[in-house]
Amino acid sequence: MLHPVPASTRAKSRHASEGLVIFGGTGDLALRMLFPSLYFLEDEGLLPPDLRIIGTARSDLEDAAFAAQVKSAVQTRAGDDFSDETWARFAPRLRYAAVDVQDAAAFSRLGEVLEARRAIFYLSTSPALFGAVCQNLQVAGLVRDDSRVVVEKPIGRDLKSCQAINDTLASIFTEDRIFRVDHYLGKEAVQNLLALRFANTLFEPLWNKASIDHVQITVAETVGVEGRWSYYDDYGALRDMVQNHLLQLLSLVAMEPPASLDPDSVRNEKIKVLQSLRPITGRDVERNTARGQYIAGVADGRSAPGYADESGGDSSETETFVALLAHVDNWRWAGTPFYLRTGKRLPARSSEIVIQFREVPHSIFGGVDLMANRLTIRLQPEEEISLALMNKTPSLEHNGMTLKPLSLNLSLSHAFKDERPRRIAYERLLLEVLHDNQTLFVRRDEQETAWRWIDAIRHGWDHKSTKPSPYPAGTWGPSSAFALIERHAHSWCE
Ligand code: NAP
Repeated sequence: MLHPVPASTRAKSRHASEGLVIFGGTGDLALRMLFPSLYFLEDEGLLPPDLRIIGTARSDLEDAAFAAQVKSAVQTRAGDDFSDETWARFAPRLRYAAVDVQDAAAFSRLGEVLEARRAIFYLSTSPALFGAVCQNLQVAGLVRDDSRVVVEKPIGRDLKSCQAINDTLASIFTEDRIFRVDHYLGKEAVQNLLALRFANTLFEPLWNKASIDHVQITVAETVGVEGRWSYYDDYGALRDMVQNHLLQLLSLVAMEPPASLDPDSVRNEKIKVLQSLRPITGRDVERNTARGQYIAGVADGRSAPGYADESGGDSSETETFVALLAHVDNWRWAGTPFYLRTGKRLPARSSEIVIQFREVPHSIFGGVDLMANRLTIRLQPEEEISLALMNKTPSLEHNGMTLKPLSLNLSLSHAFKDERPRRIAYERLLLEVLHDNQTLFVRRDEQETAWRWIDAIRHGWDHKSTKPSPYPAGTWGPSSAFALIERHAHSWCE
């Protein structure tokens, strides 16, 4: 396990009876991610023996009917990995309580099912309901000093609304009891960034402006907005992806070595990066940002409608693509561009971080083109790390050498083929909540600092009369995204 669990916490989780209450227990996130993750933790013997798992929603369901829904969702996710024996251990943990979170009286039913257990309240509902859940939990006397709360993104759609939600949470739970999820932090490859940087001596001396020319972080999706149009149209790519996932990746790439893996050591370093981000305001909004919206095109080999067509013809100004040039103004990174890019209906589903090293200062190979070294950390679809190096082509030249860039490749799925591939990020996150470890969760100040930076960009866009530029589905975004990077004599790695 990457994160050491304090002995006091281990002891607590061994002895106290625990209850995990999932609000929104019949929703998409719970059935697709949370219950399958809990099932896999059961499979590996990682759930506390007396943990009770309680799903809640408004629907009137018997325990058995709820368990049947969960079983079907787990079977879909686990496929051939489903085991009747594991299910037989997991099913007795499940309970259901019908609770409309806006009805204070309904919480007494939850109290009966919880039976005075030490509770974790997982709020997998719309953030608009967070306030009602917290208040009614407190009124019903279900919040104890040792209760924890887990909250899903989005926490607000700007700094002000984020602060309002955080104030509500803080009125009931102390910060060390609040677990804010960014599921990217549960991904193996994202945690491996810490190992790559701080469990090896090789990269750290080079990890700075002197050796690194620029950094690219891309999170590309091939899907459109699917059934989430009304949510997405209110958020757009900047709020939905950059504020959380991309800025978390940037923080992990750019942060100083933390003193330890303890939650505040890591988060103190991450927030310094966010605080060092140069605000994008004034003329920089035009120069350093590009936004687009997909129009009809061909994606995944099939014709795909445009974003506005998916909504039924609304003339929305929501961006489905964004590219940014960010500057981290500190001693390590001053002058090193960080290019961030994310979008929907792009040609490939891929998330990767590219560390582009500087060119050699002087070539002794005559007119041969030398490609600068490049470290690529791929998070999906496969977890891979590759390092591009220049090599001599084996041949008998009489006139200098022929050189070629080749890659040192580390395929994590190949190197660890006995491990179950494609773990769900929530397995790690739920395990860390059970162990009271906040290292992989976002602290309030981190989240609000990120929103402050995002709000400045959003305000800049709102003051311009331009709309997102169109890009055909199945392409790498609008031409303005290419102009943004080419202006600095760089190009996107594809
Ligand atoms: P969803 O499919 O719409 O599910 C919402 C759940 O909340 C349902 O179980 C619903 O059941 C319950 N609910 C709604 N109103 C309620 C009320 N007044 N009282 C009690 N329960 C109520 O939503 P979701 O996709 O699972 O998303 C849940 C949260 O996670 C959202 O904040 C979303 O932004 C976030 N999130 C989701 C995903 C994802 O992949 N789905 C990813 C990241 C974050 P009833 O209608 O029966 O009450």
